[in-house]
Amino acid sequence: MTNTEPLLAVEGLTKLFGSFAACDGIDLEIGHGEIHALLGENGAGKSTLVKMLFGILAPSSGRVCWKGKPEDIVSPAAARRLGIGMVFQHFSLFEALTVAENIALALDENVSIDEISQKAAELSRAYGLPLDPAAHVADLSVGERQRIEIVRALLQNPKLIILDEPTSVLTPQEADKLFETLFKLKAEGRSVLYISHRLEEVQRICDRATVLRHGKVTGACDPRGETPATLARMMVGGEVATVMRDDDAPAGDVQLEIRNLTLRPRTPFAMELKNLSLSVRAGEVLAIAGVAGNGQGELFDALSGEYTTEDNEPFASAAARSVGPASTAAACSAPASCPKNATAMVQSRRCRSRTISCSPATSRMRGPSSRAGS
Ligand code: ADP
Ligand code: MG
Repeated sequence: MTNTEPLLAVEGLTKLFGSFAACDGIDLEIGHGEIHALLGENGAGKSTLVKMLFGILAPSSGRVCWKGKPEDIVSPAAARRLGIGMVFQHFSLFEALTVAENIALALDENVSIDEISQKAAELSRAYGLPLDPAAHVADLSVGERQRIEIVRALLQNPKLIILDEPTSVLTPQEADKLFETLFKLKAEGRSVLYISHRLEEVQRICDRATVLRHGKVTGACDPRGETPATLARMMVGGEVATVMRDDDAPAGDVQLEIRNLTLRPRTPFAMELKNLSLSVRAGEVLAIAGVAGNGQGELFDALSGEYTTEDNEPFASAAARSVGPASTAAACSAPASCPKNATAMVQSRRCRSRTISCSPATSRMRGPSSRAGS
């Protein structure tokens, strides 16, 4: 092998689910020390492709060459042995265990918790990924959980690190920190396969991009030489229409109202909903903003009736009941889809269910106000 050989070459890789081709004859090359973007709309086949590269899915046909040599990547352990690490879109962590214990579970060899803790602490310092090995996963933010996955991958000293939509769960500040880590990995000569559909981000950090549409490669380029419009065209196969706001549409009657919703956590790791109020009018699109894991899931479970109230009644069926502190009320119907104003529920893990309303068009915070959080 010479260094002119790409680190990874994918040739005609196809994955069929029944007769459906999620990946259809994909060709892709990743060079040494490059950050390579894999772009594509939802359902384009990005995750399926990287699952094949990490030995989670078996290809239907085609081959993968690693440093010029064809390899059968039959399992994640086989991928790790080659030098491929992966950070998944959906984390695979046990909430009740500590950071170090979670890392231990993913290692192929037996290493003591003390040794893992020490190595994880060293790596987190070296790559700017602050992490306490003794912390319980349940107490960590989504960004911190992602750092566990990255440190876990780095412990195997990979030559190629695959990140599947890593910034979809991060705040802009956390994303900036992640990019610093990726630049450090690149400076060390490691390669990164970076999945995203955020074009600005790809232009900012990636050296090359391969674009997928309906399981096929539709383009390969240096994203820095493209515009968001040309990249979007490769992704969707045509001009992307500009979405216009219809600010003149009058807001109608209140369709959904939540007043002082308080729900105790169902499990030791669930969020508590505390005194939460908001309303949605006809002709309004309501945004629930906040970092994942701050009660959004619990709120939607409550609205769908999956989560019952203190008196064991599904929340959604408790419509038009009397309201007051620590009680619940809802009058539900489907909101129409015409953006006018939006109310954002902004929460943090430590300051629960504080609601602030704002207009996303101006991003000026208005609240807490009588529309939300009153
Ligand atoms: P992306 O990551 O680009 O959003 P995916 O690779 O997850 O796309 O999915 C590509 C297509 O393959 C989608 O249409 C998806 O529904 C389908 N698909 C993915 N996994 C499976 C599966 N296990 N069985 C059947 N279809 C699947
Ligand atoms: Mg995906």
